[in-house]
Amino acid sequence: MFPAVSAGSATIEVIEPATERVLEQLPELGAEDVDAAVAKAKAAFPAWRAVAPAERAALLHRLADAVAERNGELATLEARNAGKPIGNARGEIGMVAECFRYYAGGVERLTGKTIPVAGGVDMTFREPMGVIGMITPWNFPLVIAAWKLAPALAAANTVVLKPAMLTPLTAIEFEKLALEAGLPEGVLNVVPGSGSVCGQRLVEHPDVAKIAFTGSTEVGRGIAEAAAATIKRVTLELGGKSANVVFADADVEKAARAAPYAVFDNSGQDCCARSRIMVEKPAVDEFLAALRDEVEGMKVGDPLDESTVMGPLISAGHREEVASFVPDDAPVAIRGSAPEGPGFWFPPTVLSPVSNDDRAAREEIFGPVAAVIPFEGEAEAVALANDTIYGLSGSVWTRDGAKALRMARAIDTGVLSINSNSSVRVSTPFGGFKQSGIGRELGPDAMEHYTEVKNVYYATEE
Ligand code: NAD
Repeated sequence: MFPAVSAGSATIEVIEPATERVLEQLPELGAEDVDAAVAKAKAAFPAWRAVAPAERAALLHRLADAVAERNGELATLEARNAGKPIGNARGEIGMVAECFRYYAGGVERLTGKTIPVAGGVDMTFREPMGVIGMITPWNFPLVIAAWKLAPALAAANTVVLKPAMLTPLTAIEFEKLALEAGLPEGVLNVVPGSGSVCGQRLVEHPDVAKIAFTGSTEVGRGIAEAAAATIKRVTLELGGKSANVVFADADVEKAARAAPYAVFDNSGQDCCARSRIMVEKPAVDEFLAALRDEVEGMKVGDPLDESTVMGPLISAGHREEVASFVPDDAPVAIRGSAPEGPGFWFPPTVLSPVSNDDRAAREEIFGPVAAVIPFEGEAEAVALANDTIYGLSGSVWTRDGAKALRMARAIDTGVLSINSNSSVRVSTPFGGFKQSGIGRELGPDAMEHYTEVKNVYYATEE
């Protein structure tokens, strides 16, 4: 099913986080494998950009259909490899198909402009960039790849995708599915290799026009530096430490019951996690009571069990990092349950009260640990929400519409929801302010970010 491992060659073991068993063994790839994939993508580019737009759109629709047909199989693989609840995995694979349909619809709408000038006609073209390198994280493996693949392919680029080595299996399957759906050989190339060797080579490769990266702020910073050597275009979708601001005039019970899913979703391994739960002081007791009820009732366990809402963490090493945010003297107010093991389990945990200066409020934990930060009034809410190096997502809960909109304008963040936890839709832009990233994915403009603007002037005077 997966690339064969030849005798004597180095291998990488892909682990199932819920059981700690080896799911798959893959050959360890090197810089030469990246070079070969880039060469294939470069060779495939002229023919791919020449495919008629309607035909390219039809191919992407066919790929979306193939993903939808194989949803069950891909979702099971994703659930096992990433340790995520099967229902969530099905939703993510559904979004992969939706994303390809959305950008298939954009292929024939990617237009330039005509601009009034003296002495001739001026027009712009949206040209594909060539080979796009994509580097993706382990938390939402295939769906985050799709956010990049669908607009890039729709805009007539070819691609080399390097998935995270903890969760490469659905990307490997997806490459096969794309070929079966009729995508020409070389248009999409998946290189399941390490970040330090294969990722680095992709960023440095002179024939790669752009890097679309999702991952940590630390690695993103290194990618921006390395990309500077070849003036490579980059989009960076990085970390977050988002605020969930609950005013006393909100439906406090509703906000509290929604809060766990805004931070413990995907075991808290979510860049959008609203892990700073800011509650206006008069509402703290009511909020914590409803939150306790919800967190203690969360079913944590086997990702393949339909009733599970939270699975394990991705690895033993990551569990250690998460645990470091809950030392013995931490103000643990609520702790849910988790299986004993095997598996990299960690119970959903709420710390309260926390100051916005504490480590648990400043650093991205990327695990099921939330900090409740009390505040007084709108001005303090804005100051605390913005007192972070990040700016990715966030929520505001209040029944006062004008206050909600004042808050929405005042918080420095790329994505904000009012009386809701929702962050991501295929049809709306997604990305971060400040150290949460550069650029936007999804929405109507994403295809343009995989093009260069060319301006052509045609002199018409005799
Ligand atoms: P990571 O930064 O460790 O790794 C991300 C990818 O970069 C992996 O494929 C990895 O192999 C690769 N990589 C590592 N070192 C590299 C190097 N030197 N050169 C090139 N590539 C390299 O992140 P992770 O642990 O996989 O994912 C978690 C992080 O991703 C969190 O910080 C999270 O907030 C962030 N994230 C952001 C978004 C978003 O859209 N903003 C979405 C999901 C995750």
